[in-house]
Amino acid sequence: MNSPVTIIGAGLGGLVLARVLHVHGIAATVHEADPSPTARTQGGMLDIHDYNGQLALDAADLIDEFHAIVLPGRQSMRVLDTDGTVLLDRADDGTGGRPEVQRGELRRILLDSLPAGTVRWGHRVADTRPLGEGRHEVTFADGGTLVTDLLVGADGAWSRVRPLLSTATPEYAGTSFVEIHLFDAETRHAAAAKAVGGGSMIAPSPGKEIFAHREDGDTLHTYVALTKPQDWFAAIDFTDAAAATARIAREFDGWAPELTALITDGDTAPVLRPHYALPNGHRWDRLPGVTLLGDAAHLTAPNGEGANLAMLDGAELGKAIAARPHDIEAALAEYEQAMFLRPTEDAAFEGAEIKGIDSADNTAHGLLDTITRTG
Ligand SMILES: Cc1cc2nc3c(=O)[nH]c(=O)nc-3n(C[C@H](O)[C@H](O)[C@H](O)COP(=O)(O)OP(=O)(O)OC[C@H]3O[C@@H](n4cnc5c(N)ncnc54)[C@H](O)[C@@H]3O)c2cc1C
Repeated sequence: MNSPVTIIGAGLGGLVLARVLHVHGIAATVHEADPSPTARTQGGMLDIHDYNGQLALDAADLIDEFHAIVLPGRQSMRVLDTDGTVLLDRADDGTGGRPEVQRGELRRILLDSLPAGTVRWGHRVADTRPLGEGRHEVTFADGGTLVTDLLVGADGAWSRVRPLLSTATPEYAGTSFVEIHLFDAETRHAAAAKAVGGGSMIAPSPGKEIFAHREDGDTLHTYVALTKPQDWFAAIDFTDAAAATARIAREFDGWAPELTALITDGDTAPVLRPHYALPNGHRWDRLPGVTLLGDAAHLTAPNGEGANLAMLDGAELGKAIAARPHDIEAALAEYEQAMFLRPTEDAAFEGAEIKGIDSADNTAHGLLDTITRTG
């Protein structure tokens, strides 16, 4: 390679790739659209699995740093019926394989582990084009360009690199989350805090569910999942927080007040997050000098695996390049073959049989697979 590995996107997948390459002494640059590491909040908690995400952090030589940011007790798990009856209450004894961390903290340890200047902030890719013989030109929104021998699209759902390899585009997956935060839960939202417990809580029902996590700093993070067409959400004015909250809460009329409080007592305006997915089994023919990882390659509706898989992709690609630095095509072929075969859902997911849980409704943000794996 005559140029550093060019990675588009400083999400968890792109950063793990850059870090694993760095561990092996291979130069990379990461071009990120965000103007700075703090430009955007990084979302809530992620459970990092011992069979994928943790393997990636091990390859990145960051497992101690990871253990230092694990939030104790957050692997506890409750399942509630819509009337508040506790159907399952599992404590966190510290031995589970899915410790929870704040996504922002995980991103921070990855950023801190890279040489200064590795990430080029404010570098939004506008276009990419092949130049032949495995070389590609990348054009940025500010008009700047670069030419690279190895281009990796780690730029998420709406990847600007993917069109080089595939005509697939994400489609609405039928379900959306509405996210809400409740702060100072123990003192200001005691009933909701008790319902959630020390870790995660899910109250499932066909076509609608309330999930909540207890995040760092005594914050409850609610995810309301509703299986509705996009038109239904478009009719709600999310710029009017009170009206949007009332409309979403109406879907849960008759549910226990400690559950609906997770919607109506929000300290933040409700945020709509529609779920998109690439076609199942999305793949492409090998093209020299370019590949994809993470959501750019295999976006699914949230199922608790996406970030873990993006990190594993980054680690596996980094290791493949390090093993064959003089035969990049063989490295990319080996990486892609293994990635295409990797399930994008937790295999245990299909067996969910807790009362009231619709296992086909794949929106459980890692909670259903937690239940099935540990249940
Ligand atoms: C509500 C929700 C909850 C989720 N919960 C979980 C969970 O609990 N566990 C789990 O494992 N997964 C979860 N996921 C999935 C997970 O967030 C994704 O699978 C994961 O973030 C993918 O990582 P990535 O690095 O591939 O892409 P991303 O995290 O999307 O990162 C892509 C990066 O590329 C940058 N970028 C985009 N376009 C450009 C451009 N044109 N030029 C330059 N940079 C660009 C973006 O700014 C971003 O920094 C959840 C997803 C959602 C929506």
